[in-house]
Amino acid sequence: MIIVGNWKMNKDVKESNHFLDSFISNMKWYKQNNLRLFLSPPYPLVNDIKNKILEKKFHFELGLCAQNCHNKNFGSHTGEVSAKILKSVGFSSVIIGHSERRKSFNETNEILLEKILRCFENNLLPIFCVGETLAERQKGDQYKIIENQISILKPYSNKNNIVVAYEPVWAIGSGKTPTNEEINDIHLFIKKNLPNTSVLYGGSLNEKNAKDILPISNVDGGLVGGASLDYSKFTSIIKVANEIC
Ligand code: PEP
Repeated sequence: MIIVGNWKMNKDVKESNHFLDSFISNMKWYKQNNLRLFLSPPYPLVNDIKNKILEKKFHFELGLCAQNCHNKNFGSHTGEVSAKILKSVGFSSVIIGHSERRKSFNETNEILLEKILRCFENNLLPIFCVGETLAERQKGDQYKIIENQISILKPYSNKNNIVVAYEPVWAIGSGKTPTNEEINDIHLFIKKNLPNTSVLYGGSLNEKNAKDILPISNVDGGLVGGASLDYSKFTSIIKVANEIC
């Protein structure tokens, strides 16, 4: 099972340090096992977090996951960060194709595939986000949309490690979630198309619904946005995941 906390564009250095100190002491009960934990902070916070990891402040493994990477390894792309740079500063994974980026930055399948390939070249685990909008779901198009989104992974999923996160766009930050059956069916559909791929659920996953969603048979973990900003809520979700592992 995998749990990823996506901080998005939240927390400054002071807030991040406060979170981490409280999180580390709240995790004292945790014994390293099959659970894989990742934190996805804004890029500038990574050095402070990495220092805490190097100083062995964490008694467990916490992978650093970037929220995006550029589709080229270097060049004249002001304001962008490449997978190669991410690897060199200690990231081990990258969220690719989050719906906020697909929408705000017009990230197409072609661009997203290039980003995935840059992750493979730089030995970074891509966490590839897919999911339908409310309008697409209301038309009953969710399978068609997801099939198209995951189609770019098909030639690679057998040879490379890829994690997919099913995040219905309408569930992100809304407090709404699909039913357990709907989540299971979509996850199964993704797994049938991409054998050997772990599929995480994301979208209003929190400390209350984690006990219902994480045990669903085709759910391999969660991508947590809002609830990962609060160390106590994030730890509660990790506790549920830990019991399932
Ligand atoms: C996300 O945007 O990746 C996410 C899961 O957000 P939230 O948990 O806040 O819905």
